[in-house]
Amino acid sequence: MLSVPDRACYNVGAMTIHQETKHKVDLLSLTLPEMEGWLRERGEEPYRARQLYSWLYRQLATDFATMSNLPRGLRQKLEEEACIGPVVVRSEQHSKDDRTRKILLELADGKLIEAVLMLYPPLGESSARATVCVSSQAGCAFGCTFCATGQMGFDRHLSAGEIVAQVLHFARELRADPWRAAGLPGSKTIDHITNIVLMGMGEPLHNYDNLLKALRILNSAEGFQLGARHMTVSTVGLVPAIRRLSQEPLQVNLAISLHAPSDELRGQTMPINRKYPLKELLAACQDYITATGRQVTFEYVLLAGVNDTPAHAQQLAELLTPLKQFAHVNCIPVNATGADYRPPGPDAIRAFRSVLFERGVSNSVRAERGDDIAAACGQLRTRFEERRKQKALAPQG
Ligand code: SAH
Ligand code: SF4
Repeated sequence: MLSVPDRACYNVGAMTIHQETKHKVDLLSLTLPEMEGWLRERGEEPYRARQLYSWLYRQLATDFATMSNLPRGLRQKLEEEACIGPVVVRSEQHSKDDRTRKILLELADGKLIEAVLMLYPPLGESSARATVCVSSQAGCAFGCTFCATGQMGFDRHLSAGEIVAQVLHFARELRADPWRAAGLPGSKTIDHITNIVLMGMGEPLHNYDNLLKALRILNSAEGFQLGARHMTVSTVGLVPAIRRLSQEPLQVNLAISLHAPSDELRGQTMPINRKYPLKELLAACQDYITATGRQVTFEYVLLAGVNDTPAHAQQLAELLTPLKQFAHVNCIPVNATGADYRPPGPDAIRAFRSVLFERGVSNSVRAERGDDIAAACGQLRTRFEERRKQKALAPQG
């Protein structure tokens, strides 16, 4: 594990940046029309918003002073009244193979969240990918028993700007230092973010409005231009929000955290199942498929001795058969957390998957990555807080 010492973003201390940004508007929280309105209220021409958007999302600027086509007076005003993502990097880790990079961000009110960059070399026909795993909340209210974030409880929703800022952090990093897979000398470097997955801390559909706003900002043709097909929202299964999402003009990929094939078992590990049992969840997925014509991914965290037998796979196949080719199962061997769960061995995983294949259910297994830097979200924060507590308790010398 390579652990990088805590460092503050943009070369200023956390306290300074937090005090400075407290009363400023976060530009990363504004859609283009909102930015036009904000500038108009300050007596500026609305077309300046497009220029500003281009600086933020195309040049990936972090400093108003560099925005050379904006008049000096406007730059001054921005300096006084606005900021660009009030977040500070408190800790950063790269996996040994440098394909996974994880950061712990401190928000303006001191809350801590994690974001992860996952780098994939080119494979066959498909080019290299750089995927950011984004947090949508500080903590989470849903308490799934295998999830480190779920065990922390809920702090608060993230603003749209706090969601966008996580993506921009890694976009700037890759722009400044493009990545090439070690051992693949002929392959092209990658210098931009290709995908985002809402699989970090928190439940994205519990923070629906800010989430959708952040996705629209990242999708904007005048700005970051990330296609909706390159965005995946993962949900614990909030039925009304899934239905709402199916009606959105922005058609992102949907992933459902299923993790068990029966109400009895799912209720034991995922308390939300008592509110939205499988029948309702699957009906919402069917409606989503009908409305969008898109495939749904079902995430299935494999917990040895709990939900990983061929009989469970059989039940899962039966559950998903009505969705036909529109269902894909992603098997995820559980990452160890404080809870007492273990991932199954390769034979058990193979046996589980072959039952799904036999029943015609498309499936894949998530390759383990970044384990040496605590890949399951919530773990970096947990460790950081433990260290902080230990430091606070240690006798002062
Ligand atoms: N709240 C959303 C998104 C964040 S969690 C959701 O639950 O879908 C992203 C994914 O990581 C979910 O599928 C979640 O179940 C899974 N996950 C949580 N804890 C995990 C662990 N310890 N090991 C592997 N996957 C885990
Ligand atoms: Fe929350 Fe998702 Fe973790 Fe469940 S798995 S506790 S919904 S973050």
